[in-house]
Amino acid sequence: MNFDQILIRYGEMAIKGKNRRSFEQKLMRNLIRKLKPFPGARIHKTRDRMYILLNGEDPHAVMDVCRKVFGIHSLSFAVKVEKTEENLKEAALLAFRDAEGAKTFKISSKRTDKEFPISSQDLNPLIGGHILQNTEGVTVDVHNPDVEIKVEVRQEAAYITARDYPGAGGLPVGTTGKSLLMLSGGIDSPVSGYLTLKRGVELEAIHFHSPPYTSDRAKQKVIDLAEQLSQYGNKIKIHVIPFTSIQQKIHREMPEGYSMTIMRRMMMRISEKLAERQGILSLTTGESLGQVASQTMESMNTINEVTNYPIIRPLATMDKLEIIDLSRKINTYDISIRPYEDCCTVFVPKAPKTKPNREKANYYESNSDFTEDIEKALEDSYVIEIEDGKQIKQEDEFSDLF
Ligand code: ATP
Ligand code: MG
Repeated sequence: MNFDQILIRYGEMAIKGKNRRSFEQKLMRNLIRKLKPFPGARIHKTRDRMYILLNGEDPHAVMDVCRKVFGIHSLSFAVKVEKTEENLKEAALLAFRDAEGAKTFKISSKRTDKEFPISSQDLNPLIGGHILQNTEGVTVDVHNPDVEIKVEVRQEAAYITARDYPGAGGLPVGTTGKSLLMLSGGIDSPVSGYLTLKRGVELEAIHFHSPPYTSDRAKQKVIDLAEQLSQYGNKIKIHVIPFTSIQQKIHREMPEGYSMTIMRRMMMRISEKLAERQGILSLTTGESLGQVASQTMESMNTINEVTNYPIIRPLATMDKLEIIDLSRKINTYDISIRPYEDCCTVFVPKAPKTKPNREKANYYESNSDFTEDIEKALEDSYVIEIEDGKQIKQEDEFSDLF
């Protein structure tokens, strides 16, 4: 006997009315897409839950995929059996064994088929006794069990449900619009992307690349990071922006102390323009207060002046160690620490101004005109598409020229 279904309980079910329907539809669609590698699997929806009917697909492999889908509060394996005492006992034992390390349990039986000869009060000790006989060092605890096994005897069959696995939480990706993630090869921005996806936001990404100062391997990092992120969401388009000539011009024409601030302002301007072009209504960054020179309050204020787009900064108040923990959990840490230089580190002065201000930044910028450079960077950008952990397409590649 093995599990033949996975029960899915939604999160955030305070969601009511029309929102609830679109929540459920998005969740269903996201699940269907993630279940493509398991052609036997089918989704069955009831009033407030979903079941994945496995039809022979590997229960644990499917569970692993589902646990990365946002909008799910918890999941459990379940098995449907014909209504015999033997089947119920065997299924309950299977369910108990799924809760590795559990020392105490409780059976909760429910009988809606009143023709079934054993009442639910009698089922609990009967099934519980079978588990006790087949395990060692295990006891019943009806108040605070390590695992509760649910047995439901219905008209058509009996269902046995095993322990709860926590789901990924959050909201189904696609229920709260789209954001343009400013994705570097660092530790922070991928984590930021993950947290934004978790709130149901679909992502496109923008990456500033400065060949030949930054190598193809630096770009590959970003692709690899997006591949990890895409396991939690839908397709991700990475817009790669050639940034070399703008950086060179900043280096030539702007005072050294302000070059980093001005470079960031250029990134913001380009990101906003691209977002607008793509119909995207917000930007997301990996900025975290006080982390580096560009992330002081003065810096943020000066950099932020050039856009009135909403900027989502999921990491703003997080500690570096918390961020690193998360990056390990989502498998981006090892990619992020590969030692290839990012465009921001290449031209960064030894002593960037940590307390820039808007007046000076505007004054310096007024001595040069970047309008055409920004347009050109956008024109020369190209898109790499990532889906379900793999690169699927690259358009307009021109980086071979460098
Ligand atoms: P990260 O670890 O995400 O690179 P960081 O701590 O290195 O962040 P900064 O270098 O100050 O911080 O960058 C701040 C934010 O600016 C990044 O989190 C990212 O959102 C954005 N950013 C930096 N460099 C790039 C780049 N080359 N392309 C796109 N976005 C970038
Ligand atoms: Mg960085």
